Amino acid sequence: MNKEYYGKLIFELSRPGRKGADIPSNGCGSSLSSIPASLLREKSPSLPEVDEPTAVRHYTNMSNNNFGVDTGFYPLGSCTMKYNPKINEEMAAHSAMTALHPAAPASAVQGALEAYWNLQCALSEIGGMAAFTLNPFAGAHGELTGLMVIRAYHDSRGDEKRTKVIVPDSAHGTNPASAAVAGLKVVEVKSLADGTVDVDALAGLLDDTVAAVMMTNPNTAGLFESNVAKIADMVHAAGGLMYYDGANLNPMLGIARPGDMGFDVMHINLHKTFSTPHGGGGPGSGPVGVRTGLEKFLPNPKVVKLADGTFDIITDPDALGSVSATLGNFGVQLRALAYILSLGSEGLMEAGKLATLNANYIKESLRDLYKLPIDRVCKHEFVFDGLADKSTGVTTLNIAKRLLDYGFHAPTIYFPLLFHESLMVEPTETESKETLDRFIDAMRKIAIEAAETPDLIKDAPHNTPVRRPDDTAAALNPVVKWKDLNCEKA
Ligand SMILES: *Cc1c(COP(=O)(O)O)cnc(C)c1O
Repeated sequence: MNKEYYGKLIFELSRPGRKGADIPSNGCGSSLSSIPASLLREKSPSLPEVDEPTAVRHYTNMSNNNFGVDTGFYPLGSCTMKYNPKINEEMAAHSAMTALHPAAPASAVQGALEAYWNLQCALSEIGGMAAFTLNPFAGAHGELTGLMVIRAYHDSRGDEKRTKVIVPDSAHGTNPASAAVAGLKVVEVKSLADGTVDVDALAGLLDDTVAAVMMTNPNTAGLFESNVAKIADMVHAAGGLMYYDGANLNPMLGIARPGDMGFDVMHINLHKTFSTPHGGGGPGSGPVGVRTGLEKFLPNPKVVKLADGTFDIITDPDALGSVSATLGNFGVQLRALAYILSLGSEGLMEAGKLATLNANYIKESLRDLYKLPIDRVCKHEFVFDGLADKSTGVTTLNIAKRLLDYGFHAPTIYFPLLFHESLMVEPTETESKETLDRFIDAMRKIAIEAAETPDLIKDAPHNTPVRRPDDTAAALNPVVKWKDLNCEKA
């Protein structure tokens, strides 16, 4: 690939008058004559004028500039970027599924409703919950739905002063955001030096205005909150509910259940825990589970199984309302169901153990060169606080950029906010030992380069099509589509 060319202007390939197709005249005059003048364009659309090979090469080269789980190792902590088995894609792409209309009557889509029902049952078993809705479209959407369930529960008891949600400082940013969108007040509780929730500080915040405590377990530092049962007792005694952020349930699969830990409401990110290609903001699915007694508050529409074994779609007057026009992101639901059924309960349990083993293997193989702020057995992910040797001035950002030169996607950086130089690694269960070893090798080389040739790292990446974009400008003023500059000027 011509890097210099693609590094500069990928888009200016247009030549006036060049075409990819030539439609012969049909001998009956202009076909435009049958279209009413009011519907005709006055000016040609401003589209690039290219021949077919140029168009094909443009898109193929663009795709080669992309990085995904199908091209390389992607150890992005908290986001769970794991290999997505292709059988899931086949299931979701089957025309019997893709041709369904979202507004079809229940009698015409019994198979799809059975898939929805079966997945709902599997998630209830995995989470230790009474029922699930699959309607929310993302983890954050699930959090909002779950908090709306909690509000509906307190309101149904006339307990309307409960407007406070307690969130640990290590929580994913969506937790406080969802609570705020649900109209609740967010109060932060600090973590202890070992990365777990400070139980005494939490006790001091519990009163009769607490609607819920939101927890992630294992938390974002990859640590199991061993006080969770005690915390659940305290929160319930104060009249609040326990919310479980199960975005990354991998390490718990078949081993521990949020329902058994004392949680009342939870969400799972199907696109993380149960595989779905989900880079670039979609597609997602954030089902919400509730314990017995809260089922009726789950949002409409609902899928029910009738006495004769058939399925129906109902609108429940007790529900909190709707959070989506339909029954959610069906393609992601099918992928999750295929993943769960193909692994079975034994396979799921194995996945959880391997996710944990892989994370600990990397952590232990690098702890002499990278600062390990919390020295404990981790679950599916762990956090380094940059390099052990801070004298070189090489930062976590530099390490992340240098990893790109070695052909790896960078881990999550500067999150969680518990440490200054957070570098959060989640290898997932789908990687081979050889891949983990290559990553460890690259991380060790980078630590040595940091000491010997620090400028090489501070200037990285050197081998990628784009080097260091201005992060702030890219976030505030993203240019995500082609613009005809000449058209703009006119
Ligand atoms: C990814 C994630 C979320 C949010 O999920 P989205 O689907 O991105 O909205 C919430 N909590 C945790 C812990 C996560 O990792």
